[in-house]
Amino acid sequence: MKTNVKPEKQFVLDYVAENADALAGVCDSLFWFGEPAMQEERSAELLSGILEDGGFSVERGISGFPTGFMATYGEGEPVIAVHTEYDAAPNNSQQPGVGEHAAIVEGAPGHCEGHNVNGAVMISAVMAARRAMEAHGIKGTLKVFGAPAEELILARPYYVRDGYFDDVDVAFHPHLWDRFFTEYGVLQRAVVSAEFVFHGETAHAAMSPWDARDALDGVMLMDSGMAQYREHLHPGMGMQRVITDGGDQPNVIPSRAAIWWFFRDTTAEGAQKLFEHAKQVAEGAALMTKTELEVVIKTAVWPVRGNETLAHTLQRNIELVGMPEWEETDQEMARDIQTGAGIEAQGLTTEITPLEGPSASIPAANDCGDVSWKVPMGRLWFPSNIPGVTFHHWSAGAALATDIAHKGGVAGAGALAATLMDCFTDPSVVSEAKTSFAKETEGVDYAPMIPPENTPPLETNRAIMEKFRPLMEPHYAPDGPKFR
Ligand SMILES: [Zn+2]
Repeated sequence: MKTNVKPEKQFVLDYVAENADALAGVCDSLFWFGEPAMQEERSAELLSGILEDGGFSVERGISGFPTGFMATYGEGEPVIAVHTEYDAAPNNSQQPGVGEHAAIVEGAPGHCEGHNVNGAVMISAVMAARRAMEAHGIKGTLKVFGAPAEELILARPYYVRDGYFDDVDVAFHPHLWDRFFTEYGVLQRAVVSAEFVFHGETAHAAMSPWDARDALDGVMLMDSGMAQYREHLHPGMGMQRVITDGGDQPNVIPSRAAIWWFFRDTTAEGAQKLFEHAKQVAEGAALMTKTELEVVIKTAVWPVRGNETLAHTLQRNIELVGMPEWEETDQEMARDIQTGAGIEAQGLTTEITPLEGPSASIPAANDCGDVSWKVPMGRLWFPSNIPGVTFHHWSAGAALATDIAHKGGVAGAGALAATLMDCFTDPSVVSEAKTSFAKETEGVDYAPMIPPENTPPLETNRAIMEKFRPLMEPHYAPDGPKFR
């Protein structure tokens, strides 16, 4: 029992601690499901099922995402939302607890970042908050958003566009890291994700190439044009691509070829500008190759920002909860994985990271960006991974179904649940967050970049899961985790 802690806050901290096994169970179940973007069937079923059994009303399939959901508990104001992701990534299969690259199923998708822990932390924190609301007669509405396909930066711009955050007062996003901290300011980049498909005409590549219109030439020339343009990018901008269709075999000139780009910038406007430039380059490539161009916007997301008021509230609760008490076996495992990955064997972080001034944004993105311009948003980073590892590398997957992930998750869920209690019981938190948010976003006219007619790409990763699910199923965790 901590001193000077309000009873409802003590309630959620106790709840999270008493349900640590259930949090670990969710964490591990999601880990072994290892479902990549848009294929999170079992994961979404597990998470939304726990909330439904726990008294939330659940709406599944929101914004056309079969593996997305919104769960609601309570009524009236304030309306506090928590949202997070639970997708794995292709070809990231990794056994937990070993200090070397060892796939569970060779070539299969898996968790090598930790969105499985994010899902577990969200569920534990909102279950704690929901029980406290009942036990302490707390008024207000708690909304929980399951957001699929974070790795493709997909779901949340659609949710915001479709009005799911219209009545939300403040929102929180938990995500693991190797440290326990929060931050504010612009934290991550905006992205436009678009595929450029060139359509031409086939011919025998040796016998009559003059009769063809080569779609792959369109792709190569666009890539070349963008490579030249790299020289002229504004600092803060960036772009990456893969060729998703390069034809079938060398003696058939391809009538279809495609290249998929991420265009990034520190501002939504900058990412949009880069995309507009790329469209012109692609049109030039189509003109040169006498092919037709089709541009498919997959998603477009604003940069993630963190609200200062909510950062201070989160930080107080991070300090209240404190770092997990790592055992020597946890430290040994961390050093073993670090050694195996060829990085400094420094072990696990043992101190809380202090809250500093506005953050410098990192080059990555998260699809919660739109949420963070729609409403004040707090970002909680909790300590469930190992310092020095690189996300999407085996070393970032090796701790994700171990005591390291579980203990960091319990700390994260405690801090998040305690912060939810502050928002529900102290009206000044929400009102001050709104005031500081208005200042932070002054002069910015937020409107979703995602086009109104866009629908989610349902086929994404389907073939991968059809191939690997039967091989992954024997590894699924046996029992469904139970929260009280
Ligand atoms: Zn992530």
